[in-house]
Amino acid sequence: MSHAHGNPRPIEPRLAPRFHALLAAHPPQPDHPRTEERAEALLADAIQWRASDVHIEPSTTETRLRFRVDGVLHDVATIPVFSGHRLSAFFKTLAQIDALALARPEHGHGRMEAAGTMVELRTTVAPTVSGEMLGMRLLDTNRPLLRLDDIGMSDPDQQTLQMWLESMQGMLLVGGPVGSGKTSTLYALLHELQKLPRSILTVEDPVESRLDGITQIEVNPKRGLLFADAIRAMLRLDPDFLLVGEIRDPESAHVAITAAGSGHALLSTIHARDAVGTVTTLRNVGARDWEIAAALEVGISQRLVRRLCMSCRTDAPATEEEQACFAAIGEAPPATLFTARGCNACAGTGFSGRLGIFELWRVDAAARQLIAEGTDDLILARHALRHGLHPLLHDALAKVAEGRTSLAEIRAVSAEGSRASTAYAVS
Ligand SMILES: [Zn+2]
Repeated sequence: MSHAHGNPRPIEPRLAPRFHALLAAHPPQPDHPRTEERAEALLADAIQWRASDVHIEPSTTETRLRFRVDGVLHDVATIPVFSGHRLSAFFKTLAQIDALALARPEHGHGRMEAAGTMVELRTTVAPTVSGEMLGMRLLDTNRPLLRLDDIGMSDPDQQTLQMWLESMQGMLLVGGPVGSGKTSTLYALLHELQKLPRSILTVEDPVESRLDGITQIEVNPKRGLLFADAIRAMLRLDPDFLLVGEIRDPESAHVAITAAGSGHALLSTIHARDAVGTVTTLRNVGARDWEIAAALEVGISQRLVRRLCMSCRTDAPATEEEQACFAAIGEAPPATLFTARGCNACAGTGFSGRLGIFELWRVDAAARQLIAEGTDDLILARHALRHGLHPLLHDALAKVAEGRTSLAEIRAVSAEGSRASTAYAVS
């Protein structure tokens, strides 16, 4: 790693090998900028490392190029400001954003092929004090669907979901913060369904992956097609399963919960603190207790953590402090724990890909009764724990013990805790 003078953020050139090769062969010159070549090299590098975003960030002295990989931003190169400006202009044109200087942030869409892969780019440009900053979200619309196994779901949790899929009724909600992999979980469920002769419809904003044999529509608020209208339209087609991208307003919540309460199987995402918190969020968007009790079948809470790189991970005896984390929740502390220092296979990051950690709540008859009676969520959480709910923190620590992620990666989960863990502690 090299450190730019006066800037504490290191550059990781291994994340942008093609771009750096081009820089070395042809240093940027104002009269021969090779902009398209640089843009292609940059995107090819981003695709190789499965970056979700590419940022072009100018300062007064240089422009930094950054990739978001597995949720973390890495600086991958610096180039002269004029070269960064040309690169930004190229991507703005591709996204059909006015190439002239902007007074306010602008968004646009474009597609480009690099390294044999067509990627969809959702581009945002924002004027800053040191020039225009450009951010691109990369959507690889043809990427293969992940399976429940691939996203890190345990066998017992997978079996619970299989049972729900076979029952074909009610609502399954996946909760978690933005960027916690909720949509990937829904897609993994669709992957299970794809094998069966079922009619499956989706209402999304935007459609993130195109799926064979599944009818997908995209909401379009600018043209007046809102979630609630789209759900109503899709219900007329009487699907076996309906996937709704997100329940986020009272109207879409009402339509979704009515559909799920009247014999349709519905999958969606929601902002919720933990699995039982899906009930709280539904109450907060105006759903009535009896409606929730009739519709909700499965509540899931999830987070994403980075997977340790298998090429450079090493184990060491667990310290007393580390063992205490396991003992605190009543789990047997492992003798050794894994960390990774970084190697060429992971571009020095120590991680490769991400893994979901899950808390899965199957609503049973007694819980349904409690919801209908308006019972608060702390009592619901205690009930769920006594009837088999495996809290998020337990799943996280199990994955640490297996050496799939590090204790540091799950720190955010343990710090935030969950109501379920709180209930566990006091019950
Ligand atoms: Zn490595």
